[in-house]
Amino acid sequence: MKRRSRIFLVGAGPGSADLLTVRAARILAEADVVLYDRLVSAEVLALARADALLVDAGKEHGRQEETQQRILDQLDFYAQRYQRVVRLKGGDPCVFGRGAEEWQWLRERGWDVELVPGISSALAAPALAGIPPTFRGVARSFAVVTGHACGEAEPDWGALAAVDTLIILMGVARRAQIASQLLQAGRSPREPVAFVENATLASERVVVADLGAVAEGAVDAANPAVMVVGEVVRVRGLLGQAMAVAEAPAAAGRP
Ligand code: SAH
Repeated sequence: MKRRSRIFLVGAGPGSADLLTVRAARILAEADVVLYDRLVSAEVLALARADALLVDAGKEHGRQEETQQRILDQLDFYAQRYQRVVRLKGGDPCVFGRGAEEWQWLRERGWDVELVPGISSALAAPALAGIPPTFRGVARSFAVVTGHACGEAEPDWGALAAVDTLIILMGVARRAQIASQLLQAGRSPREPVAFVENATLASERVVVADLGAVAEGAVDAANPAVMVVGEVVRVRGLLGQAMAVAEAPAAAGRP
């Protein structure tokens, strides 16, 4: 009798293949089909079985809903034909990745689903750039927030301003507005902000500026990046960069 198919919702970690969990690597090596997101790095994909079917499920900008349904239909399609189907998502599948929505939909369709958590860029990107979200005497709380409203209500920046360290994903495009709202909510213009771009990859770059300059639109940053607001950014001066990156001059470009 044919074994029942299973769909694995797998976190690919922040980029570097070394930061995949052992379980994720094992499942990738055995998968028949891998549907991967735009943020999944080539070095992680290289760990898939040589004859696995790799399907790019990257989302087109502005057509998220349509693409989301197409991805669900594809998962359903492949699970009917293959036994081990992997849905591979950047970072952790349940951190702004719609992983839980996919999980729910697949369960409703009767599929067995296994979740494999991943290391989220929300924690790995700052930490590897020498910015610990909490540091005794500097920060006792942190929040992970989306900077992209996705048609939903804006995060409550007034309430979030009370949290010591703010870790903002998908915030690059709206960085000036976010910084202005935090200033209005009482954060200091001299507070440091870091953008950790392409974290853990050879192209990693860290840009540090102050909140006032970000609010004025004077700081450039490129996607994908994790934006960190808080005094812990200064701890970077004590720790430096935790991981050697290939393009050191770009990474070390700004203080
Ligand atoms: N589930 C993912 C987040 C998906 S939202 C996770 O847990 O990491 C997409 C956002 O994640 C990007 O806009 C960016 O803010 C962040 N991101 C993901 N990978 C990144 C990387 N390698 N470097 C910097 N930011 C990254």
